[in-house]
Amino acid sequence: MARIGFIGLGHMGGGMAANQARAQHQVTAFDLSAEALRRAEAAGCRPAASVAEAVKDAEVVITMLPAGPHVRQVFETDVLVHAPGGALLIDCSTIDVDSARHVAGRAAEAGFVFADAPVSGGIMAADAGTLTFMVGCPEPHYAAVKAALLPMAKAVVYAGDAGAGQAAKICNNMLLGVTMLGVCEAFALGERLGLEPERFFDIASQSSGSCWSLNTYCPWPGVGPSTPADRDYEGGFLAALMLKDLKLAQEAASKSGAATPLGAQAEALYALFDRMGYGGKDFSAVLQWMRGRPEALKSGVP
Ligand code: NAD
Repeated sequence: MARIGFIGLGHMGGGMAANQARAQHQVTAFDLSAEALRRAEAAGCRPAASVAEAVKDAEVVITMLPAGPHVRQVFETDVLVHAPGGALLIDCSTIDVDSARHVAGRAAEAGFVFADAPVSGGIMAADAGTLTFMVGCPEPHYAAVKAALLPMAKAVVYAGDAGAGQAAKICNNMLLGVTMLGVCEAFALGERLGLEPERFFDIASQSSGSCWSLNTYCPWPGVGPSTPADRDYEGGFLAALMLKDLKLAQEAASKSGAATPLGAQAEALYALFDRMGYGGKDFSAVLQWMRGRPEALKSGVP
């Protein structure tokens, strides 16, 4: 049994903290939201009154926060000040690579081991304990980080040194955004050409166009395996979160000098889709927009 300080009990962190408690760890949890804290308590966590209180006796600190500024602030103001020496610090939020490296540097100066460990998988995977973690930390510490993440994981994968987990996450999600847009365009063109969507799926999913966005996460309702498209594009990976990740990818591309024209186009398209009021829909809902039928989507604001 480990003593875990868990900060950030929202859509993702709530289920993750519950899985640590279910694995018999002693989880002391904090969130700014009293409602989130109450849910964590009902799931077996001890509620704390502040970040400082949540981390003061922790052997492992796990954070699941909205974005880079939250992570910098929580670590610099509280975690690095109040966590006991030797605590293992793991941030699972999706944030910019620079912030991850900055916090890793500050943690190292203060004598802590820090890992960035963003996740693939949404709220259902967080609840079920089946997330995939991409870990950036010095390699000798990876085994300890992996052991701490396992109660929340289907897979834990080593990505490299500090920031590499975030780099892997934004590159993966940029690829996902681009392939989903490509799949949606192909379905929309096929429809104009009189191609039945089921037939197109059967052919392309066994041909060179096959990819995860088509085969596993097909955006056309009623075609292929069960996906958010079959549930009015609810309950999947929100278009607004895809936009967040595409923005992080573009920020990283412009800072590093990488040419990512398809990533830039994907960001522009998801930004427009979000502004049209569909940020609360699953990211595969862009299909209905490309078909010229955005009215098929009930407006969902996250
Ligand atoms: P969320 O907004 O539901 O949860 C974030 C929580 O952090 C909130 O409960 C908020 O009150 C809390 N918080 C903010 N500042 C705080 C502070 N200073 N101290 C304590 N608590 C604080 O977000 P989420 O959907 O759980 O996502 C969390 C992270 O996971 C994000 O970085 C997101 O990009 C990433 N992510 C989300 C999904 C998803 O499907 N929701 C999937 C993969 C990755």
